Amino acid sequence: KESRVSGWFIVALFDYNPGEDKATPCQEAGLPFQRGDVLQVVSQDDPTWWQAKRVADGNLRAGLIPSKHFQERSCGAGLRRSFRLSRKDRQGSSGEAPDSGDPEFLTYEEVSRYQQRPSERPRLVVLIGSLGARINELKQKVIAENPYRYAVAVPHTTRPRKSHEKEGVEYHFVTKQAFDTDAQNNKFIEHGEYKENQYGTSIEAIRSIQARNKICLVDMQPEALKTLRTAEFKPFVVFVKPRIPESRRRRSAATSPGGGDHGRFTDEDLQEMRQSAQLIDLQYGHLVDRVLIKEDTASACVELRAVLERLERETFWVPISWVK
Ligand code: 5GP
Repeated sequence: KESRVSGWFIVALFDYNPGEDKATPCQEAGLPFQRGDVLQVVSQDDPTWWQAKRVADGNLRAGLIPSKHFQERSCGAGLRRSFRLSRKDRQGSSGEAPDSGDPEFLTYEEVSRYQQRPSERPRLVVLIGSLGARINELKQKVIAENPYRYAVAVPHTTRPRKSHEKEGVEYHFVTKQAFDTDAQNNKFIEHGEYKENQYGTSIEAIRSIQARNKICLVDMQPEALKTLRTAEFKPFVVFVKPRIPESRRRRSAATSPGGGDHGRFTDEDLQEMRQSAQLIDLQYGHLVDRVLIKEDTASACVELRAVLERLERETFWVPISWVK
């Protein structure tokens, strides 16, 4: 039944402040937490109020948290705020897919500690970026600095090969018919059209990088996470946001977003960038492992490399289904 979790560790997918919760039997006994906090569930004896500790506190204090079932029910009844995740077309390209009208209330996800063993294939690294983050550039730079360790998945395209290009290096060059067949057979994680040619990245392309024991970096529209979040890929998701200054007037003292193009952005541009980051955070923030604020490409690259190096050494929380 949905009302219990079988494991002992869960990650919260919403913020909870017992001080604002009218339903709690005792506000003082409540355990406040934020989205992304890992909680150890101590007791699920009560179907409505579980007892849990925050792992980051060193497990000092147990308190009451709404049970999964109760949180889902109250969100469904509109009594609580929660993030509504609209299910987008799973195999959709980067374009907007219609909301199927099937809301999912984000409550908790069961997690487990995971450390990659040397015998395992490296985790997939997914970069998602809000407007102005220029994640492709960042990805290329990280790879160029260490091509033995990192690689991109080679995309497919229907456009003609240029004389300097090699099959399987820049792209897999395929016919429109072959591309369409692959698309129909769900071979692509994402695909889209550009200047009347088709482009897409296949699942196989990622596998072939990982089979060579390299870390595969992909930059994707966040919708692709729904396809990529599997035990096979164990994606580590980095959300890259440009640092956005408050407003144009104060910008002389601040650094411009995206890297060094002073004076290029209007207030409207900056507002759009802010909204883009907020939207991704709202819809996909719960799937993000690491937020990287990008001042400029060079420093973001240094920071990203440090994150990637830790990925191979340290223990992370992942959905329990990935390690079962
Ligand atoms: P080009 O033909 O100049 O190599 O690439 C043109 C454009 O195709 C790129 O700027 C990018 O927008 C798009 N593109 C390249 N690879 C992919 C891919 O794997 N998926 C999608 N959706 N678009 C791609």
